[in-house]
Amino acid sequence: MDISVIIPIFNEEANIEALYSRLSGVMADMAVSYELIFVNDGSRDQSLRLLLGLAARDPRVGYIDLSRNFGHQIAVTAGLDVAHGNVVAIIDADLQDPPELIREMYAKMHEGFEVVYAKRRSRQGESAAKKLTARLFYRLLARITNISIPVDTGDFRLVARKVVEGLRRMPEQNKFLRGQISWIGYRQTYVEYDRAERAGGETGYTYRKMIRLALDGITAFSDAPLKAATISGFVVSGIAFLVVLYTLYSRFITHDYEPGWASLMVSILFLGGVQLISVGIIGEYIARLSANVRQRPLYLVADTNVAPDLPLPAPPPYV
Ligand code: UDP
Ligand code: MG
Repeated sequence: MDISVIIPIFNEEANIEALYSRLSGVMADMAVSYELIFVNDGSRDQSLRLLLGLAARDPRVGYIDLSRNFGHQIAVTAGLDVAHGNVVAIIDADLQDPPELIREMYAKMHEGFEVVYAKRRSRQGESAAKKLTARLFYRLLARITNISIPVDTGDFRLVARKVVEGLRRMPEQNKFLRGQISWIGYRQTYVEYDRAERAGGETGYTYRKMIRLALDGITAFSDAPLKAATISGFVVSGIAFLVVLYTLYSRFITHDYEPGWASLMVSILFLGGVQLISVGIIGEYIARLSANVRQRPLYLVADTNVAPDLPLPAPPPYV
């Protein structure tokens, strides 16, 4: 099998047919052996029915129906766990990532790269707020992590078999695939493209899901927030120490002290704020630690027509 294409599906009834025909067209053009693995991530519309229809019509179509909505990253992971191809492509279902680009990306793989990701030159049809937050997030992440996660790049990419093996050996619960793939290394390159508008339907990425993904990315690849909490602790303690000296000086030397409501309020609020933020940051890391200690399966499958290619790697003894 040359290529497995993994497509996470969450309420994409409007796009599945068009996506299928464009993908099949590209694959036929490239003259490769392939499979399309659609992962239904708890869709509430007719997506699953459409997928079953496609699978009945075309033996190259595989589907995995997850037991509920586990989120985009987990849906892709479920696909990676069963993909048979020497090369695995990850692509969104809404045609924002043009399937035709796979051809160019596949050619790059043959130049000896293990990862070819698609970098967004521009993005259409997305709110200014989303574009701005995405832009800022990618740059912040690049700054505070010690691996180089490419900016303006989603999960649209082609990866070689050994990268998939690498991913399967990373059992973390809070997936941030683009970071994990950067961490894995090997030879990586990119092609640029203009990100189209969503063909139909609406985005499944609510702000809530985006914030979670952003926090997963940061906590999985950087300790900078923890260090920032420590540093702000020291800075605030330093300031507090000076204020203590000043207070003692006023009280015992100049005897010039006031009831001091304002200064009290300011210091209490300030200290309280810094403490809460620090506790919150620590909490974000602890929440992820506990999620990993629980060692729940990442997802459950309700129904599928793809036989897993490889046994799941043995769970780690204790994380
Ligand atoms: N998706 C998913 N589960 C979710 C949300 C999204 O599988 O909980 C899929 C969705 O069907 C699409 C891809 O992930 O194929 C990207 O989602 P979307 O287009 O909604 O995100 P956006 O492009 O707006 O960031
Ligand atoms: Mg989209």
